Amino acid sequence: MTTSMVELQEVHKEFGHNHVLRGVNLEVPAGSVCVMLGPSGSGKSTALRCINQLEEITAGRIYVDGELMGYREVSHGEEVRLQKLHPRLVAQQRARIGMVFQRFNLFPHFTALQNVVEAQVQVLKRSRSEATERARHLLDRVGLADRMDHYPAQLSGGQQQRVAIARALAMDPDLMLFDEPTSALDPELVGEVLAVMKDLASSGMTMIVVTHEVGFAREVADQVVFMADGVIVEQGPAQQVIDAPREQRTRDFLSKVL
Ligand code: ADP
Ligand code: MG
Repeated sequence: MTTSMVELQEVHKEFGHNHVLRGVNLEVPAGSVCVMLGPSGSGKSTALRCINQLEEITAGRIYVDGELMGYREVSHGEEVRLQKLHPRLVAQQRARIGMVFQRFNLFPHFTALQNVVEAQVQVLKRSRSEATERARHLLDRVGLADRMDHYPAQLSGGQQQRVAIARALAMDPDLMLFDEPTSALDPELVGEVLAVMKDLASSGMTMIVVTHEVGFAREVADQVVFMADGVIVEQGPAQQVIDAPREQRTRDFLSKVL
């Protein structure tokens, strides 16, 4: 058992012969923000996708809120084996995790409001009126009260990403994962999305954020993790990992993004 919201224990992920995650250990306390940095190809997206069970891990264990993800333990005498969970149970576990991607993936033929309503009705079986009320509240919270009836094509990238965040929040997640949420945005639109994420962090949401926004990491992260070649090379508070990195690989990376 664990009191962390997220715990990765010796997690491995292989794609064929490509050994992408090579023993990742990570603990994210409830209500904290973990920012994950690292060069392209180091396995950051794969790590998030494993936590969210979009990918099956090859070895190790992932716990979210103390619950083993994707498997259950079955005792055979002395030996404990892992048995895959039924897809229905995996879906239930996944429903507690919100994910925001670089690309917003909104339904183009739905308005902002409809985009935030629909999953609530389909997945959570909320009534349309309850879902609409919740969607209005969340769109207001991300600063889009006056854009609810706009279609994605009528919104800027920053506005679309804020709709995507509202849509994830509408599922009442215990944990939010962000995979480079501002990387596809024009520079002048990055700030409005980071502001929404900062607000969410101060409301107590547990978050893991993959980003190259070092300023955001300094300001918001409780823990910064530097990943390279499928392992966590260095982790700690921003003042340590970003401002006084111990490892050469961290210094090399930071010299490129700062
Ligand atoms: P990052 O997000 O840090 O840039 P990724 O997790 O996207 O890194 O990728 C890490 C490695 O895993 C890369 O070598 C990539 O080619 C490989 N990879 C990621 N997803 C898949 C997949 N679905 N099938 C095969 N290889 C993959
Ligand atoms: Mg990635």
